[in-house]
Amino acid sequence: MCGMSRLEDIVSLCKRRGFIFPGSDIYGGMSGTWDYGPLGVMLKKKIMDQWWRYWVEDRDDMYGVDAAVIMNPRTWVASGHAATFSDPLVECKECHQRFRADKIADVSENVSPDEFRAAHVKCPNCGKENWDDVKQFNMMFVTHVGSVSDDSSVAYLRPETAQGIFTNYKNVVDTIYPDLPFGLAQQGKAFRNEISPRDFVFRSREFEQMEIEYFVNPAEWEKNFESLLRDCHDFLENKMGLSAEMIHDLEVAPEDRAHYSKRTVDIEFDYPIGREELMGLAYRTDFDLMNIARESGKSMEYRDKMTNEAFVPHVIEPSFGVERLIMAVLVSAYSEDEVNGEKRIALKLPENLAPYRFCVSPLLKNKPELVAKAREVYDMLRDKYGNVTWDDSGNIGKRYRKQDEIGTPKCVVIDFDSLENGTVTVRDRDTMAQVRVKIEDL
Ligand code: ATP
Repeated sequence: MCGMSRLEDIVSLCKRRGFIFPGSDIYGGMSGTWDYGPLGVMLKKKIMDQWWRYWVEDRDDMYGVDAAVIMNPRTWVASGHAATFSDPLVECKECHQRFRADKIADVSENVSPDEFRAAHVKCPNCGKENWDDVKQFNMMFVTHVGSVSDDSSVAYLRPETAQGIFTNYKNVVDTIYPDLPFGLAQQGKAFRNEISPRDFVFRSREFEQMEIEYFVNPAEWEKNFESLLRDCHDFLENKMGLSAEMIHDLEVAPEDRAHYSKRTVDIEFDYPIGREELMGLAYRTDFDLMNIARESGKSMEYRDKMTNEAFVPHVIEPSFGVERLIMAVLVSAYSEDEVNGEKRIALKLPENLAPYRFCVSPLLKNKPELVAKAREVYDMLRDKYGNVTWDDSGNIGKRYRKQDEIGTPKCVVIDFDSLENGTVTVRDRDTMAQVRVKIEDL
């Protein structure tokens, strides 16, 4: 099947079944934004909860923070975002469409106007070659805080969650004084005024990140980098159900890395739009903490508990984008096959991510004794597993189609035999096999 059609299939399934809608759909949309519907909220929440559990709760060396979205603007001066968080913007003088220069030509993010002209690309919109000078376009969203809108009230919506972690590093060390190495994790919204948002939720203007800053003794960065890289793969493959063959490490070449980074691995995924960055793992040295020390005048040193030696820790950063993870999970789970000459679509989500674990239904909805028994089973399963759904609409075949599309692993049907012998039919999403199971064994 061709790549593009699969992205369309997923976008259409997401809309049809209430996972993801275009943002502000009713007013014709809002470019670069997406809204999550009932099913999408469940999937997204599960992905984020699994992440938190894996990286924070199940480890002794990780702690959480939850910082404000609007931070003191000095944050972005210190971090370098105010000066350099930009993409190269180029405008076609014929049709006035704007593009990110490095996405339409084989040039770097720091391309000069002459270099771009020398690349001789045609406008992807009108086909002409008549470009205005490439300009650097800062991607931070500007707002004003308080009732006066002047230069002194300018603030930004955070373009990453990472700085909310770095700026709390000292508070955390001064209060809970964790053993080194330790990590601080944060999940939350980030905002980037992307020049051309595209490819469904892959490049949005408002999205969600899950980031960790892992503080280490500089002498030990390499082994910590290796072990975090292994954990990233373990998480993606074994908790998110992504197939290992679709995940690729891209060692970012020295000339493409940020100047302070000594090693960066982009973890890429085979999306329908091609092989693209799912997440990143970067060794950031002491770049961020030293910037904050300079801007704030406060020491970022950590005193080793054994040796009493004081030093500024170095940092390794695993950075996940929730939307890109959701897209990878959907791509991995999406399947089409043929049943009795009809196309069957199923989302073969891992059990820990499926919005509903079970769907319970009475064989016939107009038989009160079947409905009552089915309600009993439904309540029991809901107490036990939480996320269970009820479906008594249409015929059984239609119910199965719908549950397959929203990824429900098991459908439980209560029929007349259930009343006699306390067994129910359990139908499996992936194999479509049906087995009789005792209610108490569910
Ligand atoms: P790209 O090169 O694709 O623009 P990036 O290298 O700028 O991404 P980072 O700054 O490293 O991205 O951000 C960390 C993670 O946040 C990315 O790996 C991705 O998962 C996510 N992310 C970044 N920008 C977006 C966006 N516009 N929409 C959705 N997710 C994003």
